Amino acid sequence: MNFPQVEESVLSWWEKHNVFERSVSARSGGSRFVFYEGPPTANGSPGIHHVLARVFKDVIPRYWTMKGYYAPRIAGWDTHGLPVELEVERELGFSSKADIEGYGIDKFNARCRQSVLGYLREWETMTRRIGFWLDLEHPYVTMDNKYIETVWWAIKQMWDKGLVYQGYKVTPHCPRCGTSLSSHEVALGYQDNVEDPSVYVKFKLVKGLPSLPDKPTYLLAWTTTPWTLPGNTALAIAPEAEYSVLEVDDEYLILASALLKQAKLEGYEIVERMKGSDLVGLHYEPLYKADIFSSKGDKPAYRVIEGDFVSTEDGTGIVHIAPAYGEIDFEVGEKENLPLVHSVNLDGIVKRLPTGYTPSIYRRMLREEALALVSSAKELQSIPGYGKFVKDADPLILDDLRSRGLLFRSEKIRHTYPFCWRCEAPLLYYAKQTWYIRTTAVKEALVAGNDEINWYPEHIKYGRFGDWLQNNVDWAFSRERYWGTPLPIWRCESCGSCDCVGSVNELKSKAGFSGLKEPLDLHRPFVDELTFDCPKPKCQGKMRRVPEVIDCWFDSGAMPIAQYHYPFENDTLLEDGRFPADYICEAVDQTRGWFYSLHAISTLLFNRPCFRNVICLGHILDAKGEKMSKAKGNVVEPMSVINKYGADALRWYCFTASPPGNVRRFSEDAVAEVPRRFLLMLWNVYSFFVTYANIDHFIPGSGGALEPSELDKWVISELNQLIADVDGALEAYNPTEAGRKIEGFVNDLSNWYVRRSRRRFWKSENDADKLSAYNTLYECLVTLSKLLAPLTPFLAEELYRNLVGSVFPEAPDSVHLTDFPVADVTKIDGRLMADTRLVMKISSLGRAARSQAGIKVRQPLTKVIVKVGTSQEMTTLERLTPQVLDELNVKNLEFVDNVTELGKPGYATSSEGAYVVAIPTEISAELASEGLAREIVHRLQTMRRSAGFDIADRIVTYYQGGAYIRRVMGDFADYIKRETLSRELVDGVPQEGAFTESHRLDDYDLLLGVKRLG
Ligand SMILES: [Zn+2]
Ligand SMILES: [Zn+2]
Repeated sequence: MNFPQVEESVLSWWEKHNVFERSVSARSGGSRFVFYEGPPTANGSPGIHHVLARVFKDVIPRYWTMKGYYAPRIAGWDTHGLPVELEVERELGFSSKADIEGYGIDKFNARCRQSVLGYLREWETMTRRIGFWLDLEHPYVTMDNKYIETVWWAIKQMWDKGLVYQGYKVTPHCPRCGTSLSSHEVALGYQDNVEDPSVYVKFKLVKGLPSLPDKPTYLLAWTTTPWTLPGNTALAIAPEAEYSVLEVDDEYLILASALLKQAKLEGYEIVERMKGSDLVGLHYEPLYKADIFSSKGDKPAYRVIEGDFVSTEDGTGIVHIAPAYGEIDFEVGEKENLPLVHSVNLDGIVKRLPTGYTPSIYRRMLREEALALVSSAKELQSIPGYGKFVKDADPLILDDLRSRGLLFRSEKIRHTYPFCWRCEAPLLYYAKQTWYIRTTAVKEALVAGNDEINWYPEHIKYGRFGDWLQNNVDWAFSRERYWGTPLPIWRCESCGSCDCVGSVNELKSKAGFSGLKEPLDLHRPFVDELTFDCPKPKCQGKMRRVPEVIDCWFDSGAMPIAQYHYPFENDTLLEDGRFPADYICEAVDQTRGWFYSLHAISTLLFNRPCFRNVICLGHILDAKGEKMSKAKGNVVEPMSVINKYGADALRWYCFTASPPGNVRRFSEDAVAEVPRRFLLMLWNVYSFFVTYANIDHFIPGSGGALEPSELDKWVISELNQLIADVDGALEAYNPTEAGRKIEGFVNDLSNWYVRRSRRRFWKSENDADKLSAYNTLYECLVTLSKLLAPLTPFLAEELYRNLVGSVFPEAPDSVHLTDFPVADVTKIDGRLMADTRLVMKISSLGRAARSQAGIKVRQPLTKVIVKVGTSQEMTTLERLTPQVLDELNVKNLEFVDNVTELGKPGYATSSEGAYVVAIPTEISAELASEGLAREIVHRLQTMRRSAGFDIADRIVTYYQGGAYIRRVMGDFADYIKRETLSRELVDGVPQEGAFTESHRLDDYDLLLGVKRLG
């Protein structure tokens, strides 16, 4: 059985007959089921994690479609942003923004546009091949003008509500990409176990403490970022904490008493203890003098301030404050009016001389007031390491401090530090201007909206996602980059006033609009050419677009409306059932990415959530639990797995191996096991059915009023229970449970129903019992094909079309056009199912006892001894004794109450819970010959198959052996003939043309031959 090959033919049949389109349009009268596709970026090959997400995206809408819902699914492609730019930079060998601007933004963006769909074919091929049904012909693409226009409209709505602002704040900044990142992007790039310096630095007080002799006195501060020291303008202490003054090497050192041990300063003489507040206001000498500009009345820099954020848990209890390079530092700088000193450029390169401004000055500079700046500095030192990247400057700064006696101790530390999620440069916290969306203004609505969303797994709701909303910060959404949706804000060159543009028409209708080149492209640099007149009365200035583009997560988060070019087209979108989504699905990293941006934009615009149910997938690791990466060479190429084992096998693995939210270790072996363990088991049941149904010319539904056997009733009961279970699981967004239930049923169907029904199919007369068996197995297989359709759409189709299509021409021609099965609860018999479970359990324990004793099931035994849990179970087993005897190939069933009786020698036992099953291990001569006869039958049947006979062929059997063999063949002749369809058993040399084999059974040699009768 070659599953991949069958799938390929199913696939081309689907495409030839438009089955996906028909499956959708056939339900156009039904209620809508809305799915939003989280758009991938097609500028690289799809990985196995994309397959995982895509099969989970597929299974749920397929299910609802079969339930009668109208569920169109539109593909989408994310085309903007850093990932795309970086790929092009890599191709061109660029390392900085200067390279891009030198090359030309127009040429650079043209390459981005080209690159972004470079792997589109590969993505489409993968998507089709795994059976992910969505409309690839009419996708939404985030770089289309129409898409951008809706994004502009969304920003304008926020602007009009006062929710967009430009802030001068410390933001996480990638020095290589030269842009701010949002907090969700930062969350993507933390690395553990990063080595950094851990240094204790001495800041010399201008004057010693009055209570002590006049010796050099130092405040001891701790930092892991020496490059921020030239930006230092204050030291903060905890006002309520106790500080100690130690005498060390004829100097005084001051630090928090609680941290003496941690700073390895125990044992030194403490000459004084004081409260932190006593230190406030002391002045110290800067490590590096900056060129500071201040207003009259501004307090001087380089003093001790108090801070409620100062901890006495680590460091020294004295915190070095560089307002330009830390969020807290910046805030305290505003409060204390500390100069903001930049000693590093935006590209992370250390300046020659640090320059700084007090807040009163830089605010005036931001307002672009003309200032006559007066430099404070008399003698300036250049910074060690200038011209170098900050991390490379660190050791040079430390060397310099050491040579000046200001470095108390230098060590290394391993900690967690954020890196750029795309280029892996270490992020710098950097004070600068960035555009923000005031998401904190709608925090209550964000939190309340989350109450309405169903998360699978549930813990994400108030865990990872809920926490994220609770700790909401304004969305830093501008990017100082090139390939993205341009921020639609124009600023007057003359008066500085700003205007936000919400549509192309609005822009074109502005007074003095100019610079338009057709065809219109809303990207940089063309959009930067578009100017208009300042609307302020009396201002003669020109409005020019600000240089920034926006976070690409804003693009993808706007897809519920932007994919429809709302409100310029589809203006009924919010009321006509296409909003919100019933279902979305991505991996857990999107909690702070797409899931958040969807939720934030929808809340900001419409004050309601835009998705109701979300499956949040766990990360996928390699078989050893390592993250997959190109560098490690452990990336799994999905198409090779699919070509080997088939898409259904991979899908089944994705659904059933572990619940969707778990972290999973991907191993090809686990996928390889699926066809062996499950698909083939089902296929073999199907083949068994087809083989005999063809021999008997069985027509489904024939046979009139049938009297189903106990076994038939049992399997139909199990089948209806299965329908109810699978329906419930899929309705609850749990394909894992649905798949596992189906697998359990197929196992019982194969190993119990079919195995125990075999003789009913073999027998020669076409009686009511045989027809009942056929109809029952047919019903099971057809129902399974429908239950499996959302999960393994290829195999389901193959089964359905062969079982139904060939017999009922009026039935839907595809399983995906049928309705999902409905359980008939009147056919569910809980008692019968429990009874059968009991027989199965006793049989399985009996087989375990046999295998322990090394006695094959083919060898008949006198009895089996059973201990059960309750008297009711004993009554049940008494009634079902024939099944147990048959299953275990024993002559009698006996019950015992006491387990100790079974411990006797001569018995093999097996037990589970209250159940114990024992078999006698002694075999009489009579039983041994019966066992031998069964073994001979087994060999003959295998030979029939090897010889290529049809199951119904009649044969002659030849045998040659000793006296014992001859006796067994004689004694069991009728049995052997019946089982092997032998007309006669001939003692002698096989006739010419017979298929022969030599066997050795229980130390007896035997030659067997089989010949088909003409
Ligand atoms: Zn970067
Ligand atoms: Zn103006």
